[in-house]
Amino acid sequence: MLIKFNCPYCQATLNAGSDFAGKKCACPNCKKELTIPEKSEETQKETKKTAKKG
Ligand SMILES: [Zn+2]
Repeated sequence: MLIKFNCPYCQATLNAGSDFAGKKCACPNCKKELTIPEKSEETQKETKKTAKKG
């Protein structure tokens, strides 16, 4: 299973094997050291609350 996340420095979309969760690696794009999150970043979910009545 792959973990998808964005580089906090250059915002490149990266993915890493779940074996690497929580470990540090160098971004292949900007070469900066970053920590791989334990889960995929869920940025594509639309969780907008519709409080307003349209
Ligand atoms: Zn980067």
